[in-house]
Amino acid sequence: MSERLPCQTPGCTGSILPATALKTGGICMPCQQRKLAEERQAYIEQNRKEVNRYAGIHDPVEILTMLHSPRKPDPLIKEVPYPRTAQELYHGLTEEERGRMESYAVHLLEEEDIDQAETVLVSLLCFTDTRLGPGLEMLLHTGNYAPAILFKDADAQVRDRLIAQVESDPVNRNLLLLALAWIGDEEVVRLFAAWRQSPPEWASALYIAPEMYAREAGWELDAGGGKRQLYHPECYPFLVSREDTLEAPGAPAAVQMLQTGTHACPWCGGALTVLFDYDLQHPQVRFMELPGKRLRIAACMHCNCYGTVYMKADLEGGYAWSEYNVVPGYLPDNTGGALAFNTWHVMQLSEQPAGTYESAYWVLEAPASQIGGHPAWIQDADYPACPCCAQTMTFAAQADMGQVAEDEGIYYAFLCRECLITAVNYQQT
Ligand SMILES: [Zn+2]
Ligand SMILES: [Zn+2]
Ligand SMILES: [Zn+2]
Repeated sequence: MSERLPCQTPGCTGSILPATALKTGGICMPCQQRKLAEERQAYIEQNRKEVNRYAGIHDPVEILTMLHSPRKPDPLIKEVPYPRTAQELYHGLTEEERGRMESYAVHLLEEEDIDQAETVLVSLLCFTDTRLGPGLEMLLHTGNYAPAILFKDADAQVRDRLIAQVESDPVNRNLLLLALAWIGDEEVVRLFAAWRQSPPEWASALYIAPEMYAREAGWELDAGGGKRQLYHPECYPFLVSREDTLEAPGAPAAVQMLQTGTHACPWCGGALTVLFDYDLQHPQVRFMELPGKRLRIAACMHCNCYGTVYMKADLEGGYAWSEYNVVPGYLPDNTGGALAFNTWHVMQLSEQPAGTYESAYWVLEAPASQIGGHPAWIQDADYPACPCCAQTMTFAAQADMGQVAEDEGIYYAFLCRECLITAVNYQQT
């Protein structure tokens, strides 16, 4: 057995065989590997080239197709990111350009690049409210029924194909019911009401009654079998306000987001947060059709992560912990203390309306803080029932923590206007 030699790296306590020392110049293998990695890194840094593959390209359709097909990262290439988001580019598309994007999605479906095709089609639908034609046709042709929101404005012909198929296709039944819910026209409402009256044979194999799929598309059947919408079509986004624009507040916004409340949470002792503070006299929130002065929707940012929290509100800005609240089965101690508000971004309600479905498909990761519009469910739709009258509560607003702080998840706020009870729940991935 040969004698081991100490590694020559200063401070290293490793020892090596003479044969290894010959190969490495006297250092141990871990030191050798570190040295090689450092050399490689230095080489990359010296030789890395900045590449702007968008330089000289002005066609938004071409830019979007490039954004939708990212290249494999190459350590020797530093890509200059495109200065605008895909969402911003979609907003600016002309009708002709939207048509070209849809054709591109059809091409992707032919190539069986389903994920990218879906992203393009959902972006067209949510960001530009395009009425899909060939894209939808191709989805049906290739047997793709998800995401169901793509069927939102589908015509009677597509609807009738889905209605026929839902009876005969148990494998896709779940997706077909979701697609029908998104179509949600008079015929679908009639069909769902008929199913509620006398459930089809296949209904027993579903987790929920077939008519309950309507919730995923933001509506439900009322007692008489009519359609009851669970959100407001009017929608205004909150924008992250840059520090340097804070000095010029202008007129007070219609809704302020995330203010420290005056009451303490009876469950954890932390301060309640007023998630949304509405100036009910402001023209921007007239669509709520609420008389009075102020509506404050409060929550406990901690406890709300574990269950729904209800508040009794009035229309003068008052709010109180509701007697209907039930302690969640699992509720860890609030060790975080008071949330560090000063590290949060300031959120400013935009005066420019956004599309109703702008953030409805959460997977697009569009910023989602907003009042009105369709909620951005991360999990299944979860409209709370009013604990007082049992009516499903209407979605009012949502706070996307990814925009607000280095955080994740979305807080969703609801209102029962008859009982003046608010509810807040929370979802994350
Ligand atoms: Zn060593
Ligand atoms: Zn609490
Ligand atoms: Zn109620």
